[in-house]
Amino acid sequence: MSKKAVILLSGGLDSSTTLYYALRQGYDCHCLVFDYGQRHKKEIRAALGVARRAGARSVCVKISLPWKGSALLDTKIAVPRNRALEGQDIPVTYVPGRNIIFLSFAASFAEAIGAGTIFIGANAVDYSGYPDCRPEFMRAYQAMLGRGLKTSFQGKKIKIGTPLIHLSKAGIVKLALSLKVPIELTWSCYNGGAKPCGTCDSCRLRAAGFSQANIQDKIL
Ligand code: ZN
Repeated sequence: MSKKAVILLSGGLDSSTTLYYALRQGYDCHCLVFDYGQRHKKEIRAALGVARRAGARSVCVKISLPWKGSALLDTKIAVPRNRALEGQDIPVTYVPGRNIIFLSFAASFAEAIGAGTIFIGANAVDYSGYPDCRPEFMRAYQAMLGRGLKTSFQGKKIKIGTPLIHLSKAGIVKLALSLKVPIELTWSCYNGGAKPCGTCDSCRLRAAGFSQANIQDKIL
């Protein structure tokens, strides 16, 4: 019997690469996709499409964060264009508590189906500075899971796997290529237009990664 894993899948390049990484490691992958009121549904369709292409099971969970508090949830807040990426400021695209929430659902899912690993495509190198993408957050969350689950009470562990956390965006692009991730099915842009906007943090980090890796992005 193959080992089970829950994959947090957003439809972007990082989470899609994480799914393919887990498949390569021989995991039986159960993808968890959230419809959490984000600006557009395009990334949900992308996530489900990537899971389908990979032959992995997927479940889309609809949750609501009616208090908003992020440009990704509130269309009245503009998504910053061509923002300086070097600063220490956390941008308005930060979603309050997002990875705390997503990992909680993933932990419940993993425990219910007997999965020993949760994979998340968090990256703390070429990123927007979100605090819930950093290694210290993942370590703290891991420690919390060790206290709060029946699984851990029984002496077993649900591990959080973060294979991309120390990779550069160019490194992720190269890994995606080597794993044959269907890059053309992924969607990273914070805006849901017909084509990626090219000016949001997510588009620019992705473009820089492809450029540094000297590879053409098939989505463009
Ligand atoms: Zn964009």
